[in-house]
Amino acid sequence: MIIGVLVELSNKNIDKIFDYKVPDKLLSKIKLGIRVEVPFGKQILEGFVLEIKKENKENVKLREIIKIIDEEEILNKELLLLGKEIKNKTLSTLISCYQVMLPKALKAKQGRTINKKYEMYYTLNSDYNYKLNIKQKQIIKLFDKRELINKKEIENISKSSLNTLVKHNVLIPKKIEKYRTNYNGKIIKKKELTSDQNKVVNEFNNYSGFNTFLLHGVTGSGKTEVYMELIEKKLKEGKTSIVLVPEISLTPQMVERFQNRFGNKIAALHSALSDGEKYDEWRRIVKKEATIVIGARSAIFAPLNDIGIIIIDEEHSDSYKQSDSNPKYNAKDIALLRAKFHDCPVMLGSATPTLESFARAKKGVYKLLSLPNRINKNMPLIRIIDMSEEIKESTGHFSRSLITSMEAKLKKKEQIILLLNRRGYSSFVSCKNCGYTFKCPNCDISLTYHKTSNTLRCHYCGYGDKVHNKCPECSEESIVDLGVGTEKVEEELNSIFPDKKILRMDIDTTSRKGMHKKMIEAFRNHEYDILLGTQIVAKGLDFDNVTLVGVINADTSLNIPDFRSSENTFSLLSQVAGRSGRSKKKGEVIIQTYNPNHYAIEYTKKHDYIGFYNKEMSIRKILKYPPYFYICYIKISSKDNNYAYTEALKIKKSLDRNLHNTIILGPSTSNIFKLNKIYNYGIIIKYKKDNNLYEILNKILNYYQTNNKISISIDFNPSHF
Ligand code: ADP
Ligand code: ZN
Repeated sequence: MIIGVLVELSNKNIDKIFDYKVPDKLLSKIKLGIRVEVPFGKQILEGFVLEIKKENKENVKLREIIKIIDEEEILNKELLLLGKEIKNKTLSTLISCYQVMLPKALKAKQGRTINKKYEMYYTLNSDYNYKLNIKQKQIIKLFDKRELINKKEIENISKSSLNTLVKHNVLIPKKIEKYRTNYNGKIIKKKELTSDQNKVVNEFNNYSGFNTFLLHGVTGSGKTEVYMELIEKKLKEGKTSIVLVPEISLTPQMVERFQNRFGNKIAALHSALSDGEKYDEWRRIVKKEATIVIGARSAIFAPLNDIGIIIIDEEHSDSYKQSDSNPKYNAKDIALLRAKFHDCPVMLGSATPTLESFARAKKGVYKLLSLPNRINKNMPLIRIIDMSEEIKESTGHFSRSLITSMEAKLKKKEQIILLLNRRGYSSFVSCKNCGYTFKCPNCDISLTYHKTSNTLRCHYCGYGDKVHNKCPECSEESIVDLGVGTEKVEEELNSIFPDKKILRMDIDTTSRKGMHKKMIEAFRNHEYDILLGTQIVAKGLDFDNVTLVGVINADTSLNIPDFRSSENTFSLLSQVAGRSGRSKKKGEVIIQTYNPNHYAIEYTKKHDYIGFYNKEMSIRKILKYPPYFYICYIKISSKDNNYAYTEALKIKKSLDRNLHNTIILGPSTSNIFKLNKIYNYGIIIKYKKDNNLYEILNKILNYYQTNNKISISIDFNPSHF
C-alpha cells in the first residue's frame, strides 16, 4: 500500500504531500486523518495521512513509514474537507489549516509529546488464594461496595500490604484515564423566558436546516438565556452545539452560566488551559462525553459530530479573526462552512453587530431577530462630559461630575466600573525641553512607562528599558510623562477615595493563571468598591450592584487610524455602558471626552444603534469601505527597508496590470511600520467581485515563496491593518 503524507517543513511556506510505503504489519491500521511518523531526508517527521492509494508503484523506490501515531483519526472527513476550503479562502498552506484545528498535543510535530494522564486503580480477584492478615482484610473490605479502588485510598491503609496483595495476585492493577479538567458545580434551575425572549425562540423555530440568524439585542436583554434555550432543544434532539465567546478567559461568568445549566456536558476550550487540559477536553468531545463546546475562536474546530447549532456571541468582536498567524481565518466564516456541512443554523448575537452583519440582515441574507428591551426595562442614563471645558476647572483625570456621581454611589454602597483603555502608568515619556520621546528601537513606537516595575516598555514587542531622568538628546533633566494609563489613574483614585477599595484589571494584573476569574469573584462579593480596567471590563460582565460606569477618556479608540475606529468606539462605549444598572437598581453612565460632538459618542448616548449604523454606512459608501467593498491587505515585510519597498512597488504594478474593477492603494508604510527590526509595507485592494484576484495573488505568493529576504502575507477582510 502507498499513502500520501502531508508534512510540515519548518520555516517554509510550502505544502508537500509525499508518498510512502506501508509495511505489511501496519496495513490494517492505516486510516485517513491519522498521524504517522516518516523518514524525511535525515530527519524523522510527523505528518497526516491524506491519501490512500490503490495502485502499487512497485518500480518506484519509496521509503516506508516508521510508525503509526494515532489509532483513531484525529481529522475526520468533515475536518479534512474543511482544511481544503480554508486553504482556498485564505491562501495559506494546507498544513497550517490542519494544524490550526488541533490542540498542541495532536499537531504534527517534532519533539515533546503531551500524554494522557492516568490514575492507578485496583480490582479484586474474586478467586484469590491467599491468607490475609488484619490490615489486608481491611483493604479487601473496601471492595464490598465498590469494584474499583483508587491507589491512594489503599495506600492510606497500608502501602506494604498493597504491594503484597498485588504480588500474590489478590488485587489487580488497572490504569484509568484521568481528565485534568473537571466540573463539579451545581445545576441551577432555568429562568422562565420573557415574552420577548419567547418570541425570538419561536421565530427561530420556524426555520429548519442551514440558516444564519442575527440576534440584535441590547445589553442585558437576555441573549444568553435565549442561547441556552436553543441549545437545550438541540440537546434533546441528540445534537451537539458550539458557542463561541470573544476570549473565554475574559468571560468566566459566561462559562459558569453554561455550566450551571448543562453541567459536565460542557467542554470549555480557552487559552488559560494548559496543553494537557486542552487535550483532555478535546478527547471528552471526541468520545461524546461533552456535547456542548464553549470556547474562544479556535473552538470553532471542535471535533463534534451531528452539530445542531453554532452560536457566536458578541459577534462584533475582532477576536474571531486570527490576524497574527496563518491561516488568517475568521471563525464566523468557518461557522458558516461547518453549518452548511451539518445543515444546521448559525446564530450571531450582539448589542452592536458589525456593519457587515447588520447590512446582510437588512438584505435578508441573514434572518434578523431582536430583543429591543432590557430584562429590567431600564437602559442606563448616559451623560457626556466635555473634558476640554472641564480641564480648566479640575486637575487630574476626573471631571467634577464623575467624582460627585461616584461619591453618591459609594455612599449607597453601590459599585462602580471605570474604563480606561490604556494600560501602564502613562502613555509616553517625553522631554519637556526638546520634545524627545523614548521609542522602541525595534518597533519605532513610543514606550509606555510602568510605575510598578519602574521601566519603559514596548507594548508591541515587549522591549524594556530603565527610566531616564536626563534627556539623551539635550541632556536636560526635564523628562515628563504624558498621557495616562491605568496605573496612574489607580494612584489618583487612591488619593481621591483613600478609604475605598480599588481593583485594577488589565493584562498586567491578570496575566497569572486564574487571576481574572478570582478578581471577578472578589468584585462580585463586594470586596472592592471600584473596578478600574482596560477594555477587559467592557466584556460580558453581569454584576447586580454596579450602578455607575465611568469612561475616563473615550477618545483613545477614536484616534486610532483605522476605518473601523468609529465603529469600534461606538461598540466599546455601548458595551461598557451596558454593564451599568443590569438588575433592579437604576444605572448611570458618564463618558468623558474631548470630542463630545463625534457621532459615535452622540449615538452611544442615545442608545441608538440604528442611527449609528445609518450614519456610518453613508461614510463607508463614500470612502468605498466594507460592507460596500471587500478588502484584501497585502503585507510586504523585510529586514531591508529599501528592498521591501522596491518589491512592494513591483507587486503593486503587477496588480494594476492584472486586476480590473478594483481599487489598489499603496504601497504605504504599515500602521506599525517597524516591528521587531522588520520593515512593513502594505497594499490595500478594494473589490466587489473577486474575479481573478485569487489567481493573481497565488502567482505572487509562488513567486516569492523561496525568497528568504522577504515575506508576503495576505489577509482577506482584515480586522485591522
Ligand atoms: P445579555 O446576554 O443580552 O447581555 P443576559 O442574558 O446576561 O443578557 O441577561 C441579563 C440579566 O437578566 C442577567 O442577569 C440574567 O440572569 C437576567 N435574565 C435573563 N433572562 C431572564 C429571564 N427570562 N427572567 C429573569 N431574568 C433574566
Ligand atoms: Zn518594540
